[in-house]
Amino acid sequence: MSLLVVGSVAFDAIETPFGKTDKIVGGAASYISLAASNFTNKTNLVAVVGEDFPDAFVQHLQNKGVNTDGLQIKKGEKSFFWSGKYHVDMNSRDTLVTELNVLANFDPIIPQSYQDCEYLMLGNLTPKVQQTVIERLNKRPKLIVMDTMNFWMEVALDDLKQTIKMVDVLTINDEEARQLSGEYSLVKAAAAIQAMGPKFLIIKKGENGALLFHGKEVFYAPALPLEEVFDPTGAGDTFAGGFIGYLAKTGDISFENMKNAIIYGSAMASFCVEKFGTERLVNLTEEEMNTRINVFRQLVKFNLTSV
Ligand code: AMP
Repeated sequence: MSLLVVGSVAFDAIETPFGKTDKIVGGAASYISLAASNFTNKTNLVAVVGEDFPDAFVQHLQNKGVNTDGLQIKKGEKSFFWSGKYHVDMNSRDTLVTELNVLANFDPIIPQSYQDCEYLMLGNLTPKVQQTVIERLNKRPKLIVMDTMNFWMEVALDDLKQTIKMVDVLTINDEEARQLSGEYSLVKAAAAIQAMGPKFLIIKKGENGALLFHGKEVFYAPALPLEEVFDPTGAGDTFAGGFIGYLAKTGDISFENMKNAIIYGSAMASFCVEKFGTERLVNLTEEEMNTRINVFRQLVKFNLTSV
């Protein structure tokens, strides 16, 4: 079933304790589309880049089955650029540079051929733009998943709350959940955020996995313990791409199936962090994916005997 992905397609410059990159391809929608393309060949992208963006990456997305008809290329303009530096613990980072460039006036035009999408993934963007995408769809998708970040809570809280009200699943990290709800306990935070609109909430906890909340139900998926986390950039987006890609493939949006989707999302994210930028996702094979899913199976499998 078809999936619409909206978000940034960008250049990133990243510094981690393992090294440093010059401008490489990044952006939330790049990670989401690459991850989702492993599950569905009906991924449709809406994004904007400048004339400076490498055609080879667009070609690569197309080779992975991603439809890029909705990718606007602005002549004479520059792509969004973000630069970040990770702390030694790799869980926290400082944003060094954010140059909006083409994102400053992004008008998300939805090609007619995308109108029948059943799954919508709103990657991290200005909440108003995310809202515009929902409003421009003739028919509400079966499932709308939205990602956001603390920055929008600080500069556009009212818009953010309006957009959150319109979606089914919100994905944010633990600190953002606390900030948005004003509650320290993640259980209380989850209840408060669900009362804002989304029936499902995913709280990402970096190397400590992710929690899925739905009413009183809660499910926990660990992150794969890795010897080396090379670059966590895009892990959250890759997780979201795997999550919604799996749901789009299976067509089942029940809480039970979302548990599986979270495991697939976590498996995809575990690849993302192994190399800088999108490199690991670009070269991922189906066999590697299946092996990793089995590693997850073993990680969480246990037989409880009664005492
Ligand atoms: P994550 O590590 O999951 O938070 O995602 C990192 C990606 O988000 C990078 O590739 C950036 O290009 C992109 N990004 C960072 N800040 C923004 C922003 N304000 N709007 C849109 N995308 C952003």
